Amino acid sequence: MSGAVWVDPVSDAALVGAVTAGFRGEFGDAPEGMWAAPGRVNLIGEHVDYADGLSLPVALPHRTVVAVRRRGDGVLRCASSLGGPAWHGRVEEIGPGNPSGWASYLAGVVWAMGRAGLLGNDFGGADVFVESSVPVGAGLSSSAALECALALALAELSGLPTDDAGRAALAACCVRAENEIALAPTGGMDQAVALRARAGHTLLVDSADGSATPVPLDLAGEGLALLVIDTRAPHRLVDGQYAQRRKSVEDAAARLSVASLREAADAGTDLRGLTDPTLARRARHVVSEIERVRETLSLMASGRYRELGPVLTASHVSLRDDFEVSCAELDCVVEAALAAGAYGARMTGGGFGGSAIALVEAAEIDAVASAVLAAARSRGLTEPRFLPAPASSPARRVLG
Ligand code: ADP
Ligand code: MG
Repeated sequence: MSGAVWVDPVSDAALVGAVTAGFRGEFGDAPEGMWAAPGRVNLIGEHVDYADGLSLPVALPHRTVVAVRRRGDGVLRCASSLGGPAWHGRVEEIGPGNPSGWASYLAGVVWAMGRAGLLGNDFGGADVFVESSVPVGAGLSSSAALECALALALAELSGLPTDDAGRAALAACCVRAENEIALAPTGGMDQAVALRARAGHTLLVDSADGSATPVPLDLAGEGLALLVIDTRAPHRLVDGQYAQRRKSVEDAAARLSVASLREAADAGTDLRGLTDPTLARRARHVVSEIERVRETLSLMASGRYRELGPVLTASHVSLRDDFEVSCAELDCVVEAALAAGAYGARMTGGGFGGSAIALVEAAEIDAVASAVLAAARSRGLTEPRFLPAPASSPARRVLG
């Protein structure tokens, strides 16, 4: 019986070599530069960003790199080693649903930065080639990594500030790209962490005021590790379930006469005002999840990392039973990780497939991964893959 398959991060040097060769092959020229942005895993605070809530994502060491060369004729050309066919189009023709498919994430960034007045009237288009070590469609936010790498590239090439305020403005453009051009109604957590993370930290993303505050996360120093389990079950955020959950959260807030469920969480609003049982369960998830983020912060502040485990597991139960965004594969790997001695485990990301995380003793990470693999096999499920998740750095320029 073969062992667990690990998706290891690829070094910047290797990504740069591949993306430079890809760019030359596609466009016959050298790029002006290369920029990388990370995928992410969310420690806790799931499905709360669009309720003005609190989340604690971590940047992965797995990155997406774009190689970029500006043009002068108003044309955008996008190609990827992983994506579908290359896309060529005129910048002024980019709009909701055009292009569709993978290039919409890149074209959307150009569109949103243009709309925000960040690119200047003389922006003449660009050639963009993409390489990545972020698993695509695994709930680890390859979409935000793609957007944020290009946003930072265009910002630096345009001489825009790339301090934290500048990055916050770019993150907002990337959210618009994903919502309005790629037509995926996601919140803003993924773009915030891809652009504003800090190595060795989790990022407290407060979607109410847009702040992003690094919080030290020294799991390795405590002998712990975060194991990411990619179930490889198909996950489709654009298929309507995510939009439905988002709508229930907004409906629940309207019925409670609060601006957002964050306001309900902060004010201790009585959720019994929600007579519709489904809306009540959706709201209970959001409000209790925001509370669990606060509990996580207070445990981390006092260095009680192992005690995070039950909080993570409670988050999974809430996402499974109240928010109903888990699935058989996610439940299986969470249960198997707990049975193998993980302190806590939960699905992470949008759900309906994708990935889970488990908090484990660093020395036991391989044993937990093997046990999770064996459980998936015995249930006849697709074999999961595993990723290490040391808290890594945000988007940055990479040198050739
Ligand atoms: P996730 O963000 O969890 O990986 P999404 O469904 O939000 O999943 O985004 C995945 C989509 O993003 C892909 O289907 C593809 O359209 C696009 N994408 C992400 N990374 C790349 C890449 N390296 N090359 C081409 N397209 C990519
Ligand atoms: Mg995504």
